[in-house]
Amino acid sequence: MSKIIKALINGEFVESKSSNYVDMISPLTGEIIGKVPCMLQAEIDKAVSIAYQAYLSWKDTPIMTRTRIMFKYQALIKENMDELASILSIEQGKTFDDAKGDLVRGYEVVEFACSAPTLMMGETVEHVSTKVNTYSYKQAIGVCAGITPFNFPGMIPLWMFPLAIVSGNAFILKPSEMVPNTAIKLAELFLEAGAPKGLLQIVHGQKEQVDMLLDHPLVKAYSFVGSPAVGAYIYSRATANLKRAQALVGAKNHMLVMPDANEDKVINALVGASMGAAGQRCMAISVAVLVGSAKEIIPKLIEKLKQVKPGAWDDKNADYGPIITKKAKEKIESLIQNGVDEGANLVLDGRGLKIEEYPNGNWIGPTVFTNVKTNMNIYKEEIFGPVLCILEVNSLDEGLELINNNMFGNGTSIFTNSGASATKFRREILVGQVGVNVPIPVPLPFFSFTGWRGSFYGDLHAYGKQGITFYTETKTVTERWFEEDIEEEIAFNFKENHSK
Ligand code: NAD
Repeated sequence: MSKIIKALINGEFVESKSSNYVDMISPLTGEIIGKVPCMLQAEIDKAVSIAYQAYLSWKDTPIMTRTRIMFKYQALIKENMDELASILSIEQGKTFDDAKGDLVRGYEVVEFACSAPTLMMGETVEHVSTKVNTYSYKQAIGVCAGITPFNFPGMIPLWMFPLAIVSGNAFILKPSEMVPNTAIKLAELFLEAGAPKGLLQIVHGQKEQVDMLLDHPLVKAYSFVGSPAVGAYIYSRATANLKRAQALVGAKNHMLVMPDANEDKVINALVGASMGAAGQRCMAISVAVLVGSAKEIIPKLIEKLKQVKPGAWDDKNADYGPIITKKAKEKIESLIQNGVDEGANLVLDGRGLKIEEYPNGNWIGPTVFTNVKTNMNIYKEEIFGPVLCILEVNSLDEGLELINNNMFGNGTSIFTNSGASATKFRREILVGQVGVNVPIPVPLPFFSFTGWRGSFYGDLHAYGKQGITFYTETKTVTERWFEEDIEEEIAFNFKENHSK
């Protein structure tokens, strides 16, 4: 019998009383591996009110106590890395090494959270007027919520709750119903690290449960990562409820290749960045823009892509795993067909791939289109699979214009040996995360994850200093102490300088 996935309420892993479940289906075998409850309103309400109580005492807990939990937590994630990575691989399908990478990128945020005493510092100015000082504090905002996607079951929850909690908040996590087990194991370790009960709660479900969180008056801020339509919905509903929200959504990331770039480095970068994790990465390169004679790399690139081998998570020779669901696989296949019908040149077709030991796995092999035009669906839509579209342009300017006209702005990169080309690209590109000879420029957690335009709704980005700002409110205090008993006139107007 498949396992019923538990919620985390008040430090206990408990079964929901809901009779409505979503099946977790292994992307590798097609078997049901878990049943995720769509929790009841009363259960969600209980999770929020317990989180609120936990926040009330946590916000006043000394900052070093809060920080020490993060030190311990980081160590526990590292100690339990193999177990965490296998839980992650089994539910998500990605290879064991890729699952470890997912977790590494997550615990780096925990490491950043260990800088909380510095990150939480406010500002001070003495003598804003004579003997009047102004200073600011960053204070927690209360209960925050996170709604996370299937593709990074470790990293994305860890982008959120460690920073929210270290800065004094409580956090409700609603992980993707396709991959809740990694979040549960991460929460178990968080409790083991000494986190008080109720600070981190895990609830389960889909739209209905997310709506319950969005409309709950005690939840003050929402971090969302997922698809554009859902992100737009969550951002709109949260902000219509006058709450704070950040929504990190879809992408179409271009790699622009100048004719002077090193061919082998370009090919390796393109293969890894387009096919890694089966293309199910919001920073995957899904479009190559080849400038002028850079198109000469195409035959060698295709040869290299033909050698990429999908396989099971525990197969050491596998380069990537299956697609998350049958439905997602069918969507990718239909977009590939769409590309053929629109006249793009399908030079490598990954449809119909069979892997003998796993006949029910959601396989798609490496797929490449050349002769892609910007009005085609395969160019306009996020495909979220191992599909690379190749476009050709005549100049850097033309490439810049093409990328800047795409609706998404998550990540991009340029490969070149020219400092002048790289500098022009960096300056003029309207994309928030730029790589120069780096194919997937995901910033480490002391920076923020700065997607732009159609890839992000909100103003404060995830993690880094902006993450701390997102999860805190600034309180500014202006104070004056009377040293002597001087008589003063009543002030009816602002004066330029309040000196005596
Ligand atoms: P998704 O939008 O289907 O689901 C994300 C979360 O939203 C899940 O927890 C899900 O239960 C919930 N959800 C689904 N439908 C909902 C609805 N109608 N109302 C409220 N909540 C709902 O996304 P996914 O398929 O899990 O993830 C893939 C997407 O995530 C891709 O578009 C990818 O680009 C994006 N992504 C973006 C980033 C980024 O940093 N920009 C990072 C990772 C993934």
